[in-house]
Amino acid sequence: MKDFSKNNFIYNIINNDILKNKYRIIHTRFSPEPNGYLHIGHIKSIYLNFSIAINYNGKFNLRFDDTNPDNEKLKFINSIIDDIKWLGCLYYKKIFYASNYFFQMYNYAIELINKNLAYVDLLSKEEIKIYRGTLTKPGIDSPYRNQSKKNNLILFKKMRFGKFNQGTACLRAKIDMKSPCLIMRDPVLYRIKYVNHHQTNNDWCIYPTYDFAHCISDAIEGITHSLCTSEFIENRKLYNWILKNISINHYPKQYEFAPLNLAYHVLSKRKLKVLVDKKIVNGWDDPRMPTIAGLRRRGYTAKSLIEFCKRIGVTKKNSLINIKLLEHCINKELNTMVPRIMAIINPILLIINSLPKNYCMNISVPNHPNNPNMGKKNIILTREIYIDRTDFNEFYTKNFKKLTLFKKVKLRYSYVIKAYKVLKKNNKIVAILCNHERYRTDKAYKSKISIIHWVSKKYSLPAEFRLYENLFKVSNIEDKVNFTSYINKNSLIVKHGFIEKNIKVNLNIDAFQFEREGYFCLDKKYINDKIMVFNRITSIKHN
Ligand code: ATP
Ligand code: MG
Repeated sequence: MKDFSKNNFIYNIINNDILKNKYRIIHTRFSPEPNGYLHIGHIKSIYLNFSIAINYNGKFNLRFDDTNPDNEKLKFINSIIDDIKWLGCLYYKKIFYASNYFFQMYNYAIELINKNLAYVDLLSKEEIKIYRGTLTKPGIDSPYRNQSKKNNLILFKKMRFGKFNQGTACLRAKIDMKSPCLIMRDPVLYRIKYVNHHQTNNDWCIYPTYDFAHCISDAIEGITHSLCTSEFIENRKLYNWILKNISINHYPKQYEFAPLNLAYHVLSKRKLKVLVDKKIVNGWDDPRMPTIAGLRRRGYTAKSLIEFCKRIGVTKKNSLINIKLLEHCINKELNTMVPRIMAIINPILLIINSLPKNYCMNISVPNHPNNPNMGKKNIILTREIYIDRTDFNEFYTKNFKKLTLFKKVKLRYSYVIKAYKVLKKNNKIVAILCNHERYRTDKAYKSKISIIHWVSKKYSLPAEFRLYENLFKVSNIEDKVNFTSYINKNSLIVKHGFIEKNIKVNLNIDAFQFEREGYFCLDKKYINDKIMVFNRITSIKHN
């Protein structure tokens, strides 16, 4: 399979840089804010940065952009590290934190004040917003903009030593209040937060903003190509302005690529957090969530997620990726490697009346139809079995090819059966009565008979099946303001049925193909519960 991930504009830029001998070593980073769990969009970014480091024999840092202790938690840091490890993209044991550089950043802020390029503003947050202007209206200078350097230094130190209340002072860059680029209208560089920080405790009560911290962290770490998503295009101007005006001798360059948008899903930690906080889903690792934790529990493998990223490639143009591509990647991988099992999701009892009461036949069948190396197992046919309700129709209709009264179907690996009666309770079918006959292999006979799956009533285990669909009803959900009102109410359907007893010996296996149903994995969260819970990874249509 061709690796499209290498054939993109970022690789072209790096190749050019190498031709011009610009860098000794190519160095990338992934820098999430630890304010939530990682999602599949992040995998695109992680894989891009990680694979560049691998392909160019360079380096790749995982760095937390931990500049906003309000929203950050240790549990998010741990989950992010765990997810990246699981993906196989943890390059160093050492983890980097923007907070490692708080002292340097503080000194750079003082340097900007000394160069008359930053000032302490005492306007309120609301006033700053009004003074900033809009895209059509130029901003107005703050009355504090032209304070003396000396005054600014005193005020900034006062900020640092907790002499101001939160929200009453901030440090701003002195750039241009009339700039057509709103970000360049004297952006805030430091704000006061009396919040304990997970790395620095209460060493600081002022915290740098993302824009100030990000470029400096990149420069300190020797990052050469700082790759981010296209919503940061405008921030690039500020990124360059800061680095140009402080005494630093390394200049990383920022390049932007289109973020991954996945149809029927939201990809933003902030939005995913709303789903968790409002209990619309059952936590960050709910198998419907496009988080790495959710996808893992759902049964996606790291390999299939990386394969997906290779296939979507990296461009500058936004697009909406069809979830089918992701499903294709996992199906392709699982198809060749997971055992086949029979499971009945909507059970209905079928009695083969022509068999003796204690009938019990062992049938040896392959674990995988095309891979003899996976060995064989025994399944047991008894007089009473379960089949799927959707494989039975009491009355014949032209398009229904499975079991109907007085028609025949073949039981997978076993007899042909012909139904002759249904038993009903309160008008609902509770059992189907059949007789059996041997399967003949002549073409005319074979072509008329379809095959259904089944499990023995006696030699099966009860199981819960969780069937998932897209979390949202509309495909382009990122554009919707009130996104939670588009939740797909059928995104989780819980069914109770039965599964081949053989599953017991295979419970250390991650995934199975339930014949004619789809790929499922055992939800390890419920491993000690009485009933096994299986998550549907993807479905394969009944045929
Ligand atoms: P938030 O909603 O909190 O901004 P986020 O999902 O954007 O969350 P960040 O921590 O801001 O996450 O992003 C970390 C890195 O991952 C950034 O470099 C960002 O550009 C990249 N990234 C975020 N979302 C995507 C996406 N959908 N596709 C590709 N890369 C992404
Ligand atoms: Mg973001």
